[in-house]
Amino acid sequence: MAVVLIYGLYLAIPLPGEKLARDYSQVILARDGSFLRVYLNSQEQWCLPPQLQTEIPDKLKTAVLTYEDQYFDRHWGVNPVAVVRAAYLNVKHQRVVSGGSTLTMQLARMILAQPRTLYNKFREVFLAMKIEAHYSKREILQEYLSHAPYGSNVRGYLAASYRFFGKEPKQLTWGEAATLAVLPNAPGMIFPSKNSDKLERKRNQLLKRMYELEIIDEETYELTLLERTPDEMLPFPLAAPHLTDRIHATHHRDIVETTIDTEIQYETNFFVQQHAAKMKEMGIRNACALVVDNRTGHVVSYVGSQDYHNLDQDEQGRVDGVVATRSSGSILKPFLYAAAIDEGIVLPQTLIKDVPTYFESFSPSNASETFQGVVPASTALIHSLNVPAVRLLNAYGVQKFYNMLEAAGVQSLFRHADDYGLPLILGGAEVSPWDMAQLYRGLAQGGRFARITYDPSEVLEPEQELVSEAATFLVLDELKELIRPGLEFYWKKYGDQRPLAWKTGTSYGHKDAWAVGTSPWWTVVVWVGNFDGESNKNLSGMASAGPLLFNIANILPEDSKELWFEEKAEDFVMVRICEETGFYVSSACPNTMEVKAPVHMRPMKVCPYHQRFFIDPSTGYAVCSRCWDGHQAAAGVLKFTPDINYYLRKNGVIVTEEPIHNPACRQLQEHGILQITYPVDRANIFLPKDFDGSHQPLIGRVATQFPDREMFWYVDDSFVSSSVSNPSMPLYLREGPHVLTVVDAEGNRDQVRFSVSRN
Ligand SMILES: [Zn+2]
Ligand SMILES: [Zn+2]
Repeated sequence: MAVVLIYGLYLAIPLPGEKLARDYSQVILARDGSFLRVYLNSQEQWCLPPQLQTEIPDKLKTAVLTYEDQYFDRHWGVNPVAVVRAAYLNVKHQRVVSGGSTLTMQLARMILAQPRTLYNKFREVFLAMKIEAHYSKREILQEYLSHAPYGSNVRGYLAASYRFFGKEPKQLTWGEAATLAVLPNAPGMIFPSKNSDKLERKRNQLLKRMYELEIIDEETYELTLLERTPDEMLPFPLAAPHLTDRIHATHHRDIVETTIDTEIQYETNFFVQQHAAKMKEMGIRNACALVVDNRTGHVVSYVGSQDYHNLDQDEQGRVDGVVATRSSGSILKPFLYAAAIDEGIVLPQTLIKDVPTYFESFSPSNASETFQGVVPASTALIHSLNVPAVRLLNAYGVQKFYNMLEAAGVQSLFRHADDYGLPLILGGAEVSPWDMAQLYRGLAQGGRFARITYDPSEVLEPEQELVSEAATFLVLDELKELIRPGLEFYWKKYGDQRPLAWKTGTSYGHKDAWAVGTSPWWTVVVWVGNFDGESNKNLSGMASAGPLLFNIANILPEDSKELWFEEKAEDFVMVRICEETGFYVSSACPNTMEVKAPVHMRPMKVCPYHQRFFIDPSTGYAVCSRCWDGHQAAAGVLKFTPDINYYLRKNGVIVTEEPIHNPACRQLQEHGILQITYPVDRANIFLPKDFDGSHQPLIGRVATQFPDREMFWYVDDSFVSSSVSNPSMPLYLREGPHVLTVVDAEGNRDQVRFSVSRN
């Protein structure tokens, strides 16, 4: 009686903790549930987590139970008939020919993991009955098959199915199911292939039994006998390896789902490899790409390098370019243009100066090393001109732009805004392709910036609007312009069927080539260069990264009903601007036009370039209130500053001459507003050699009552440069006499004569 009670108690107490060690391979899944990658478990085994497949496929179940335990569904852990039969057979043959074990007992043996002794056999029997008391038959079968050894370092039917047959368990044939049924009892048979005859014989015996039991028909039986047993391990799929490494290092769940789209991932990977192979001939070794679904913020393709498997010193295939921060080149310019539109600094039509300019100690030049005098903002953006971008940033404010980038998710701004200064817009800051995708997606989302993610369960924080939807629309529309120098071929290939807003960038010293494209659906970021930072004169955003961008963009599915961003009428107002300069109309502007502007745009400056003159029609002279005679007529004249005129003329533009003022007029001159303080008039200046043997420049200085006015510097009547908020200018001078003239934007001037001698 007591024995029965104690035994009852034993059965009633749940199994201690885990049934079997939960030591599984980490499996990282694409969004369709296919494998991106499977990692070895801590025992260096392939053992897939059982949650991957909750139902044991019928063929496998039938084969296993036929082979191991025909009465599985009926016994309670131990099959007395089988035990007696086994004992009889073992005695008869004087060795162990049959264990008489049920499948539950085999599971118990796996849990106990003890040598086969009679004592342990009893423990197995008791544990098996206890297991039966606590778990359903389905759970027991699942538990057994999920952990059984299949040979080599493969555990569990899931890993075995993929590694031996390269397929999901539910696709297994009868022959494959039979192979998996016999292996756990003889796992040594799987490899090497010299054992394959033995394995095949065992499998065929099982097939025969199944045929005799009428589980399979004759035709199936005979065809299945012809199937070969596996002779090599098949690899698990491997896609987006840089991303999976990133996940493997930070996530410890057995199964990690991602937002990766297998098809886009494989295609992108192919294009990156193909493109990198071409670039290699020019000494450009590395490339990476990222594709984001704009609607969801989900990363659908992540290619960290041109070849993950190439561990060559030069190739550095393991480096994950997607998270590496690189100089941004010109690629941040669209954000500045959009922000400057909201701020009322420019509209796409507004002229920006494009002349050599000194900003404190910094003097930007354009990639072409030419200047156009003035250009509309849209042209400046499309041609990625540096001087207008720097002027725009100067007007907008470095700190403000820096704050915007930070709020938009750029995580790599390690220095203060002031330390970056104006070069921030020319690639002074380093940004990762990941953050870049976040930025451009924000542009495509109407100025609402948010995180992007590879984790489908991540709840993305609410998006914050940093730029108005109308301003982003205007900028995206400019960036859609497809005909760009050097890419005519791609324009033809890409056509205008699927518009894409895109921008390229090349970092200083030709170290990084960027190309980023965005549409209502997708953002694609491409970076090409050398991971070790080596520069290459062949490297340019347009030629090195642009083609790869278009190859990728071309394969992305599009909804033909929504190819381009919706222009929302309520976001815009019509404003009247000067037709020639793109500023708000002043009373002097002769021609005006109406254009769209964001409804909340701050008011823009009125046209600074048209001046109203009163002309005496009989003489053609301009007259003023001091010298008019009542016959004058008003006229608006386009009057640029001298430096603009200089470059306009240089580019063959006919410049309107300012009408000459009536010579008879005694108009007042402003005096003492601007004065050259160095060199002083009639000075004789000695210029020493620098350390490197070159002659030092003479630093000219002015004192002015209006330090914010732009100043124009001329030496010997040749225009040198202009300066903004900067009273000094380096002048490189020959030996001999010189004349220095400085004129401010209002026409106030001073002049000194001096001579230079050098050693
Ligand atoms: Zn005007
Ligand atoms: Zn006058």
